Amino acid sequence: MSAKKTALPGQRQTPQRALVYQVIESAQGPLTVPEIHEGVKNKMPKTGIATIYRAVKLLLDSGWIRSVKLPTGETRYESAKLGHHHHFQCRTCNQVFDISHCPMSMPSGSEIPGGYIVIDHEITMYGLCPRCR
Ligand SMILES: [Zn+2]
Ligand SMILES: [Zn+2]
Repeated sequence: MSAKKTALPGQRQTPQRALVYQVIESAQGPLTVPEIHEGVKNKMPKTGIATIYRAVKLLLDSGWIRSVKLPTGETRYESAKLGHHHHFQCRTCNQVFDISHCPMSMPSGSEIPGGYIVIDHEITMYGLCPRCR
């Protein structure tokens, strides 16, 4: 994927910022800032973590990525264009994966006993990833 494709309209595009978005977009799940940093350093070894924080903030502000708050309190980042999905965190390696399978048969608008209309839901699953099992 070229850096041009991920250029943000109306903003000065730096190679690091394009790479930060690329790393987030190509990941198997939402990433923490240190994980994004690791991914960026593979291609640009001199990039400092402050640069990553700045790039993440800009990408958030311009709506390219969104933050994912896990029940553990951990904040991670993923591409804003992802559709409905859930997260699976490995108890061994702590990596978080996107799971497209939805275990909850409850589309938006479903009514549950008591008169509640469900609009959306979030599910975080925990277990062992394919590599750690
Ligand atoms: Zn694992
Ligand atoms: Zn779901």
